[in-house]
Amino acid sequence: MKNSYIVFKVKNKNKAINTIIASMVMFFVLFLLSNLNIQAQSNSVKIEPVNFSNVNVTDNFWKPKMDLVATKTLAACIYQTEEKTPRIRNFEKVARKKGEKHEGVFYDDSDVFKALEAISYAIKTSHDKNLEAKADEWIDKIAAAQLEDGYLNTYYTLSGLDKRWSDMSMHEDYNAGHMIEAAVAYYDATGKRKFLDLVIKWANYFDSLFGPGKRDWVTGHQELELALVKLYRVTNDKKYLNLADWLLSERGKKLAKGYTWSEWKDTAYAQDAVPVKAQKEITGHAVRAMYLYTGAADVAAHTGDQDYVTAMRRVWEDVVFRNMYITGGIGSAGSNEGFTNDYDLPNEQAYCETCASVGMVFWNQRMNSLTGNAEYIDVLERSLYNGALDGLSLSGDRFFYGNPLASSGKNARREWFGTACCPANIARLIASLGNYIYGYSKDKIFVNLFVGSNTNFKLSTGDLQFTMATNYPWAGTMKCTLNMKKKQSVPIAFRWPGWANGIPAPGQLYFYDKNTKEEKPTVLVNGNEVKYQIENGYVLVQQEWKDNDVIEYKLPMEVKKIMARDELVQDNGRIALQRGPIVYCVEAVDNNGKAWNLIAPSNSRFTTEAFSVIDEKIVSLVANLPVVQLGVDGLSAQTMVQKIRAIPYYTWCNRGSNSMQVWLPTSFKNEKINY
Ligand SMILES: [Zn+2]
Repeated sequence: MKNSYIVFKVKNKNKAINTIIASMVMFFVLFLLSNLNIQAQSNSVKIEPVNFSNVNVTDNFWKPKMDLVATKTLAACIYQTEEKTPRIRNFEKVARKKGEKHEGVFYDDSDVFKALEAISYAIKTSHDKNLEAKADEWIDKIAAAQLEDGYLNTYYTLSGLDKRWSDMSMHEDYNAGHMIEAAVAYYDATGKRKFLDLVIKWANYFDSLFGPGKRDWVTGHQELELALVKLYRVTNDKKYLNLADWLLSERGKKLAKGYTWSEWKDTAYAQDAVPVKAQKEITGHAVRAMYLYTGAADVAAHTGDQDYVTAMRRVWEDVVFRNMYITGGIGSAGSNEGFTNDYDLPNEQAYCETCASVGMVFWNQRMNSLTGNAEYIDVLERSLYNGALDGLSLSGDRFFYGNPLASSGKNARREWFGTACCPANIARLIASLGNYIYGYSKDKIFVNLFVGSNTNFKLSTGDLQFTMATNYPWAGTMKCTLNMKKKQSVPIAFRWPGWANGIPAPGQLYFYDKNTKEEKPTVLVNGNEVKYQIENGYVLVQQEWKDNDVIEYKLPMEVKKIMARDELVQDNGRIALQRGPIVYCVEAVDNNGKAWNLIAPSNSRFTTEAFSVIDEKIVSLVANLPVVQLGVDGLSAQTMVQKIRAIPYYTWCNRGSNSMQVWLPTSFKNEKINY
């Protein structure tokens, strides 16, 4: 491209015309180059996600949730962070320098930063001036708490700076990682540099202490790695990428010597037993693991280090093939907030932290980006619509920390938590949902999620405006309108979801009832059915496009009965229900006050029925099923048939505490029936 410009220095008699022509050509070439630059962030990336700020979400399902987050959820985060709890107060105390004591927990700073990140995404899409004013107010307070050398941590500054960097498990790096993510998001949303400059100062300070030839450090709660890659992307300073890579390389070397490891008795807990590139199994704390592998994927995307990609594929298989709930939730045990043995997935005791499902979304997007394979988006979609979304109430201001798959009625959504990582995490995910819909490569457009939205693809041959309209996840038709000035031949790849192609989850941890028919997607262009190829889990539609072409991508939306492989003993003799990406549950409030008294024989037939959970319009599933009830004598049990309604898992526990089940017993034999 540059050469063609140089060659084009015409020796024309008219100098003025020459200058104009040359300027126009230069502008055109720079324009093309700028487009190509967007597409060539890294050679290691097969699919580059389209950033949420370039995607306008108009969706019936997600847009109201994004609006809810921008109003109710962020209002709850702001209220809890600065009024109800001492989180903001700690920053004010540092600035006053009066020797006041730190209040709360040593990792509380991170909640301020994560809320700020969510606020930044909401500002970018909603342009809310009040939110921006609140963010500026907090950023001023944060800046006033930064020390001269760049250090910023309210716990150690108020409790004794002599002890800083003495205990790897005390989240100094974790807090700072969230601070960097927030600053990058805020800079992206507003263009204001104050917060970004602050975190650059912090990162330079950290870099002066740690790294090759300096001190060792293993991040106690991974997060800084992925944050440093974000800082690298915005500053283009490779020092931060190298630092992230070095932090990854520090794991698994048993570097505890000379440091206190207060909560780190078991190195597997923090994925520190084996070097990252040698890891084969998922271990320990689920959120730490997700942030670690997200960071490793981010580093690999820029360095091209295939050893990370190979290791992550092995670990990913261990997660998805042996340790993932049907809801996409992970981390079955509360004791370590994480993984136990393979196939140990209890339902009522399931931990399934909301943050871990959010982490699954992050990591799987990176894996899709690195490999170009759609199966990672299948997992992302499962975690997003079920395990993660369940963490937020329909009202937007109540939260789940854990997301069990069965309840005897003791669970309740809460306003906040002592450890409050989850609320702002689900908020920042939904506020930036546009990040997960589209992708592109040198020669293709990818549609990963089916969300009503529009975006503009800048192709080397010109712009292509892509508009998707859909009632997904309730209906399976995506109507996509293409607008462009001149004809384009770019192939468009629509994900063929695992739930539609007969594979509920890769690795066959779960499988469909044998009577389930496999139906291929249908593609119509301007009303006429067209043939397509399938490549890496994508339906590839290829032809020359012209302005106002309409592609209809149709997925069959059957009710699917799911079974778990025998090793999942807690699900033996049970089925779960899924339609599209949505996993269902039976909740007592819809079923005469009971959810544990029914059986769903394997031949039971569920049909769809429009329904509302409070004001959330959903598709419910209904069937006439045997239930056990106490006889009129109050002593004997009797079986009768009752209309049973199942609702989307993410909507449960919004109408008070009551019992719930995802996995329904198929017979009365050996089952815990509670009538
Ligand atoms: Zn959490």
